[in-house]
Amino acid sequence: MAKKDYYEILGVSKNATESEIKKAYKRLAMKYHPDKNQDNKAEAEAKFKEVKEAYEILTDEQKKAAYDQYGHAAFEQGFGAGAGSGGFGGFGGGSAFDDIFSDFFGGGRGRGGQGPTRGSDLQYNISLTLEEAAAGVKKEIKVPTWVTCDVCHGQGTEKSSDVVTCDTCHGAGVVQMRQGFFAVQQECPTCHGRGKVVKNPCKKCHGEGRVQKTKTLSVTIPAGVDTGNRIRLSGEGEAGLNGAPAGDLYVQVQVKPHAIFERDGSNLHCEIPINIALASLGGEVEVPTLNGKVSLTIPAETQTGKMFRLRGKGIKSLRGSAMGDLYCHVVVETPVNLTTKQKELLKELGESFKADKSSKHSPKEKSFFDKVKKFFG
Ligand SMILES: [Zn+2]
Ligand SMILES: [Zn+2]
Repeated sequence: MAKKDYYEILGVSKNATESEIKKAYKRLAMKYHPDKNQDNKAEAEAKFKEVKEAYEILTDEQKKAAYDQYGHAAFEQGFGAGAGSGGFGGFGGGSAFDDIFSDFFGGGRGRGGQGPTRGSDLQYNISLTLEEAAAGVKKEIKVPTWVTCDVCHGQGTEKSSDVVTCDTCHGAGVVQMRQGFFAVQQECPTCHGRGKVVKNPCKKCHGEGRVQKTKTLSVTIPAGVDTGNRIRLSGEGEAGLNGAPAGDLYVQVQVKPHAIFERDGSNLHCEIPINIALASLGGEVEVPTLNGKVSLTIPAETQTGKMFRLRGKGIKSLRGSAMGDLYCHVVVETPVNLTTKQKELLKELGESFKADKSSKHSPKEKSFFDKVKKFFG
């Protein structure tokens, strides 16, 4: 199912500021509130879910950047805690609305802000030659990402005794606030929902438990990949916050066009130009394959468009071991840049064709002119 554009869902422009996005979210959340939608709760709930997801992505700087660049593809498969793992609690005391109210009444950015949050998934676009795609290849890639801090091992502090229970919420992660008519539960402003605080934050990561780094990874690309294939490296995305699991890295394959071969799934096609002498008399011609040259027998009287199939000279199927074929398409080339001698030989050949009244050397030509004659006769 094609997903709707997040900006469209919120009814804001692509250049909307965070406060415009918040405003749109608040308005739509009110609109789809269960109290106002007694008759069609299910529909309102679905709408609200969409709105919430759009809001969460577009107010998260990194996720927004990923979305702006890759669209929904940025979050395919197991996107982290931000957009869905919590699920939608349903109406009537569900957690979803608690989040909204904490947003409305001056809380932070809902849960997720500083609590354990799974790292974002990353996408890396890799460009391969046809040869690499066909044979498979090992590639080193450099990915700018967040990795677990090696000083504190993701704890945010060097000594585990420095992680203490939060005084403000006594470890609950939430506090009760009274706002006019509402008694709302709000994320604890001191520990941002973690229930724990770090007394002496790690100097390297400032207590975040992760640092920015360009990671070098070795990726094994299987034989037979094609443009559009994705390889998932589990846990190689961004490190999670505060010890949460890392996201995944998706390596998106793109195969460059080849000078000789055109690919069609596991089959290859190539053009084999031959001269009129070879085409007429037949002979051997060397044709290229991905694994070197092979000899192809051209029978006498071969015409342009004739196709020869070389079994098993294509590309291995990504699933299974079946090999594709190589299709060689013959093109008979009219000679150019002729010497005087060659011109004479051809002139002589032409004369001999003319002398033959049966036109048996050019059956196609004869049949064509017979039809033309009939047409005008
Ligand atoms: Zn650290
Ligand atoms: Zn707290």
